[in-house]
Parts: sequence; structure tokens; C-alpha cells
Amino acid sequence: ARDAAEPADETELAIEGALRPMSLAEFVGQQKVRGQLQLLLDAARIQERAPDHILLSGPPGLGKTTLAMIVAHESGRPLRLSSGPAIQHAGDLAALLSSLTPGEVLFIDEIHRMARSAEEMLYLAMEDFRIDIMVGKGAGATSIPLDLSPFTLVGATTRSGLLPNPLRDRFGFTAHLEYYEPEELERVVERSAAMLNVDLPRSARAEIARRSRGTPRIANRLLRRVRDYIVVHGSASSSGVDLGTVRAALELYDVDDIGLDRLDRAVLDALVRRFRGGPVGLGTLSVAVGEESDTIESVVESYLVRIGFIGRTPRGRIAMPEAYAHLGVPHPDGALR
Ligand code: ATP
Repeated sequence: ARDAAEPADETELAIEGALRPMSLAEFVGQQKVRGQLQLLLDAARIQERAPDHILLSGPPGLGKTTLAMIVAHESGRPLRLSSGPAIQHAGDLAALLSSLTPGEVLFIDEIHRMARSAEEMLYLAMEDFRIDIMVGKGAGATSIPLDLSPFTLVGATTRSGLLPNPLRDRFGFTAHLEYYEPEELERVVERSAAMLNVDLPRSARAEIARRSRGTPRIANRLLRRVRDYIVVHGSASSSGVDLGTVRAALELYDVDDIGLDRLDRAVLDALVRRFRGGPVGLGTLSVAVGEESDTIESVVESYLVRIGFIGRTPRGRIAMPEAYAHLGVPHPDGALR
């Protein structure tokens, strides 16, 4: 489990829920996606129909679930939450789809992990709001068509490349969420701090933002750890929370000065020291750090590539000079940069 990226327990989940923006206007960043979604929702409202199916891809914690909730909220429709791993048979999906009320928004998280048989049923459901239910086995099997209420599917995936083309093609709108800029995360922290009644100077908010791996969920999580720290230790200066307090709190949680956590550093360390900079395959790297390759690819690697620490080559992953510098290891090609 990752300290900062995953909700730790029920209370954490509840707080995370409470901090969720409920409208596109409150949703920070992702300006392009927000504009596109706004248009989609406006058009559906004017034409009095359910909005088109929406596919959201991107690393965990960037706001996919939040956007699904906003789609439902802004279009005044109920929302049903499910996930790929919960749909292991076509029957699971049939039960879910046939219980939707007209116009309902169906959110399927990790849609790439749904059973194949269910995927095929979903094609027809998305296109014609209809499914065929197979009854019986072998030569006597027949299919009974069942009409569904119109619905809007919002699918979320960390890796849209894993979705079969026929499924991807059935979404009227596809968006990829990018990691957030530090200034955007600062706004996320500002908003959440106000909601949690934590009084933080701008420098403290900026420090949290800078160390949040481009991820709002992590920004909110770190803010709560800083709040805990203040509750227990008080803040160092009488004039409020200073930067030292924030840094001390974050160090306690193994977040380094650029926001990398233990798993990020383990991957970098394996790549640079054990595999001498690579190239090394993702599978080998995952085994070396004892984490699923899916997590390494969608969470760790995607961020380390984005900040220029890791490069992808046809022969595998390689460490870039910035990674050596961060670990304080001399680069084989010459001086430490
Ligand atoms: P996962 O796929 O792991 O479920 P996700 O992409 O669905 O992640 P969310 O659960 O939507 O992520 O967001 C995580 C937290 O980050 C939420 O508590 C939400 O409040 C906050 N958050 C995400 N995006 C934004 C944003 N753009 N503005 C403000 N807060 C945000």
C-alpha cells in the first residue's frame, strides 16, 4: 500500500469525500477537459437527453471519480458507482444495467479490469441501450433481448491503452487527465485548508503543493498530515505555521523534498544502483521492488517519466541524469550534475 496515494481507512475516505468539488466551477485545473465537459453537459441539457458516454483516463487521484460525480450532479441525475473488478461475469453487468433508473449516470472505475464477457455485453448496452441475456446452455441456449433505460456511462481507467478498441470507440468523449501544476495544487490546498479550518501561510501551501506529485489526492492527504502535526506539536512560530513545521511533518511521512515517496525512491534506487541505469524491463523492476507491475507503471513510472527521471526505450526503462543527481550517485557519463 502506498502511504500517500491511497485512502488509508474509512475516516480518511470520508474526509476525502467531503473535500470533493461538486461542480465544474469548483474543480481546479484540467482547464481543457473542464471546458469540453461543460459543452457536453450543456448540449445534453438543451436537447433534453442523457449526456454521451465519457471515458476518463489518467493516474490515480487526479479526479476521475470526482468528475463522474460532477457529471451526475450538474446534469441533475442520480449516480451509481461500480468498478471493473466487481464485474466478473456478464450476469453482474446485466443485473447492474437492468436496475438503472432512466438517465442515471453509471460510473465504472478501473473499467479495464472488467470481465471480457461483460465487455461484450456493454458494447450493445452503450450503443442501443439493450442487452441480450443468454438463457440455458449448449444447443438449447437462447438469448432474450432486454431493453434498458437510457444511461450515461462514465468509465475510468489508469491506462486507456488496455481497453479494447471497440469499447473505447463507443465513448462519445474521451479525456486524459494530466498531472497538476504546482500552482493548481496550491489552489487545491488553499480550498481544502479553508474547508478543514487550517490556517496556512502561502509559503506552507506552496510547499505542500510542490511535494504532492502533481496529484490533488496527495495534496489533500499531506495537508491533513500537516494538520495532525500542528495539533500534536503546535506550530514552531507564534505567528502561525511556518515552513519548518510543514517540512518536519512531511519528512515524518517519508515524503522527500520533491515529493517522492518510499516506493518512488525504491524504484529509482533499483534502476540506478542495481541495474546500473538500465535499460531494464518493467516486470524485472517490479519484482526488484516487490510491487505489482500495474502499480509501478501507472503510478510510479508515469510520474517519474513526467519529471524526466526515467526514460522509456524499446529495450526498457533507463535512468536519466536527473535521477542520478537526486540520489546523489555520480552519472556514469561524467560529473554529477
Ligand atoms: P482513483 O482512480 O484512484 O479513484 P481519481 O482519479 O478517481 O482516483 P478522485 O477520487 O476523484 O481521484 O480524487 C481524489 C481526491 O482529490 C478527492 O478527494 C478530490 O477532492 C480531490 N481532487 C481531485 N481532483 C481535484 C480538483 N481538480 N480540484 C480539487 N480537488 C480535487
